[in-house]
Amino acid sequence: MGKFIPLSIPNFEGNERKYVDDAIDQGWVSTGGAYITKLEEELARFLHTKNVAACQSGTSALHLSLVEIGVKPGDMVIVPPLTFIAAVNPVKYQFAQPIFIDCDDSFCLDPVKLREFCESECDYIDGKLIFKTNGKQIKAVVVVHVFGNMADMVSIMETAHKYGLKVVEDATEALGSKYTEGELAGKYAGTIGNFGAFSFNGNKIITTGGGGAVTANDPAVVDHIRFLSTQAKTDPHYYIHDEIGYNYRMTNLQAALGVAQMEELPEFIKRKQANYDKYAKLFEGFDLCKLIPFREGTSSNKWFYSLEIRRDCITAPMREIITRLQDKGVQTRAIWGLINEQKPYLGELTYKLEKAPYYATRILNIPSSTQITDEEIDYTAVTIKQLLKELCDER
Ligand SMILES: *Cc1c(COP(=O)(O)O)cnc(C)c1O
Repeated sequence: MGKFIPLSIPNFEGNERKYVDDAIDQGWVSTGGAYITKLEEELARFLHTKNVAACQSGTSALHLSLVEIGVKPGDMVIVPPLTFIAAVNPVKYQFAQPIFIDCDDSFCLDPVKLREFCESECDYIDGKLIFKTNGKQIKAVVVVHVFGNMADMVSIMETAHKYGLKVVEDATEALGSKYTEGELAGKYAGTIGNFGAFSFNGNKIITTGGGGAVTANDPAVVDHIRFLSTQAKTDPHYYIHDEIGYNYRMTNLQAALGVAQMEELPEFIKRKQANYDKYAKLFEGFDLCKLIPFREGTSSNKWFYSLEIRRDCITAPMREIITRLQDKGVQTRAIWGLINEQKPYLGELTYKLEKAPYYATRILNIPSSTQITDEEIDYTAVTIKQLLKELCDER
């Protein structure tokens, strides 16, 4: 077996097996059981928020947020172009229309372009933000904290308040990221906007296999989301349903895994942060790529590390870079393709996309698992530097 350094794999060093066995022994494996409540409580405590509803995925958490806001056919929602498509698809589930606004150098929503868009492209009438071009109401903005890096929430919230926009924070990659300075100091990703969505998919910082959670600034709204996620059953004894519900509740088996993972989350974050610093030292002064920093005034969970490839010298497509690194045992990944260029989104509205297309061809994610060793980090850095030099010379 040759060397293989994976991009991002789960870490089960704690009580995972014990708790999952316990859930099985008790016979509570489905959408009822004590681990679900326990996980919700642990998340709420960790995030310093009052109420969290566990659900089946980050996608369902985002979908329920839009449902709760009342996003309907004919409405519009501001979304990011450069992120995982799951952040945007729920807009389509509601038969609403997305409008893509550019990111800044953090890969998150550009707060300046957001404000400019609201000011110049919309009218604010009777508490409603109306897009001048088509007369439709813009009800919400989905803000993704990309790779664990936090968006400029101070500025975004200011604009949102001014224009009556509901803010859905997609914190699926940012569990544990928080502001440390400024007016939002101490506030965690997902607890600043009206809604916050989390994901516990296999490669996220903690995993439940598949799973997610949602929080909101109004605890009663979270209760209603929990209700919707369990088919909106109104009566404890009879099957009475006054609303359309969903089968979006997390299972107790998943939650058992999640409770164990929550015990380890602080350690996972510590390791991600320390490993980022090691990479930073190794890439320092190397001029063919740059390790992207995380926002000042925040403490990021540093979930994923990003290298910007210098395109003036290296013209090889990402596919070739990834394949050649793979041959040397280093698994890497290209950043996402632009969502507005994906087939179901062709022809949708965009606003001043400049940074998103720039970074879409330049960003490479490098191994970031919590179990990665110092030796593997060294090997990864050496291998990447060597390949980039080769590619630059080959031109
Ligand atoms: C992972 C992820 C999601 C979706 O989470 P799932 O649990 O896989 O449904 C949504 N948005 C972003 C940015 C993600 O990275």
